[in-house]
Amino acid sequence: MVNRSAQDIRRLNRFEVLRCFHATAGPRTRQDLARETTLSFATVSNLTAELLDAGVLLEVGHAGSSGGRPRALLTLNADRGTLIGVDVGETSIRTELFDLALGEMAVDERSITPSDVTPEQIIDLIETGVDTVLTTAKAPRSRVLGVGISLPGLVERERGVSTYSPYWAWRDVPMRDHLAERLDLPIHLDNPLKASALAEMWFGAGRDVDNLVVVMLRSGVGAGLALDGTLYRGTTNSAGEWGHSCLVFRGRRCRCGNLGCVEAYVGTYGIAETLRSLAPDDPLLAADGDRSAPLLAGLAARLADGDPVATEVVGQTAAYLGAAVGNLVNILNPEVLVLGDQVAAYLGEHLLAGTRTALADHTLAQPLRAVTLRLSSLPHDAVSRGAAALAFEGFLNDREVFGPVSRARTAKART
Ligand SMILES: [Zn+2]
Repeated sequence: MVNRSAQDIRRLNRFEVLRCFHATAGPRTRQDLARETTLSFATVSNLTAELLDAGVLLEVGHAGSSGGRPRALLTLNADRGTLIGVDVGETSIRTELFDLALGEMAVDERSITPSDVTPEQIIDLIETGVDTVLTTAKAPRSRVLGVGISLPGLVERERGVSTYSPYWAWRDVPMRDHLAERLDLPIHLDNPLKASALAEMWFGAGRDVDNLVVVMLRSGVGAGLALDGTLYRGTTNSAGEWGHSCLVFRGRRCRCGNLGCVEAYVGTYGIAETLRSLAPDDPLLAADGDRSAPLLAGLAARLADGDPVATEVVGQTAAYLGAAVGNLVNILNPEVLVLGDQVAAYLGEHLLAGTRTALADHTLAQPLRAVTLRLSSLPHDAVSRGAAALAFEGFLNDREVFGPVSRARTAKART
């Protein structure tokens, strides 16, 4: 049973108001916000008062109105502090520094040596990435409001524990405590599915719809779910592990150990396997380190030249993807389904067109009519950007900043 407390509703409404500012730049009146969010004017006034108190919003003049009182124009206070988003991938770590309007200030990318990665190595790399972006942007550490970190695999949010990583032999590592100690900053952990969904909710297709599925296609595969306007996490934060649902009974061996998983067909390893079955000696299969980007870039270049093998590989991938995505559409009845991340970025329209055709063969007519399938409009950094949004939400949930304590403190400071 969904039983949201008044505090939860207030928190969600706060996000809703701020998302308007991230949707399109430019100042807004309280009346604009009420219209855009469909919240009452009284609720918007209340929320904006709180956000002005906390310095997240600023008044920047007045809108001219014919007669009546002039209406204050509000905008995001980009200089209120900074946010850091970290995307820990299988073979690289991307760290980005943003201002509070989520404008990028600095980025750092460093590779992970794939074999035998320990939590300590990842913590070292995250620390170096964070130090580097702060130094590059000459941004003081004291102004960082939070660090959002996306770790691959399953993450238990409440305890800040990486419970399972598909790539590394980790179980139950209390990463948040380790990282908080090292970085001395507020840490918010989650996985790339949640980060991708948040990125679309704040900056992409999810701004306009309440029911959204974000299909993440990289070496790992999964679905981020935003249902009824809220990020859906499931009972233990593992919702969306659709990449490890069965697509082909007793099919290919997946990296999780099971047979026939979606990921084993539409993740980069799956795509390589399909290519291998058609052209075992193809140079794109040369195995030295991470071949995901060269494989996908090579396939994309050959597609453009009409190469029959590349066309067949992408055709088969799209057919698998359409069938697998059809399950999501039948179960969840979303309004928009976004294909995102590395595979979608490289194979783009070719993949989309084939997936759309296959989807029609595997979906009931009614939910099929209701859904729009599209490529992600976000740039290459959806996960690190979504991780920064996670840190922003964490800051907005901070009861020291937003709550009875802060209101009392602000009132006192003003007298
Ligand atoms: Zn699997």
